Amino acid sequence: MAEALNGQCLCGQVRYRIKPPLHQFHLCHCSRCQRSTGSAHAANLFADPDAIEWLQGETACRRFDLPEARFFSRCFCTHCGSPVPCLARNGKLLTIPAGGLTDPVPCAPQDHIFWEDRCDWYDQAVDESCPRFAIYPDQG
Ligand SMILES: [Zn+2]
Ligand SMILES: [Zn+2]
Repeated sequence: MAEALNGQCLCGQVRYRIKPPLHQFHLCHCSRCQRSTGSAHAANLFADPDAIEWLQGETACRRFDLPEARFFSRCFCTHCGSPVPCLARNGKLLTIPAGGLTDPVPCAPQDHIFWEDRCDWYDQAVDESCPRFAIYPDQG
């Protein structure tokens, strides 16, 4: 039996454990995920609704259900704004932000979804000609 995975928000007030199995791992490039993450895409794992055990800070979490959307929801720490696990509106699935896990994610992303909606600079960002630095580049 795989071990539970630990996760937390940036400030550490929200901590949780996720019980495997993880059913899906999608990188979502839709415009809603771009806006809500401030980045190129969301990285979301999916598990059963009861897979989560809140260790602390559940009451510090807030939920936002996008009014014009059927499914789009976001849950976040009210102290630091980090995404935290979020139950689907129909209650059938738990979304877990992959970057919130402090344990290694035991599976690879299975796909990029909403690929046609990806931001203009994504292909350039992942192109090998875009330099990689271990930390901040020298200000030199
Ligand atoms: Zn926080
Ligand atoms: Zn999305």
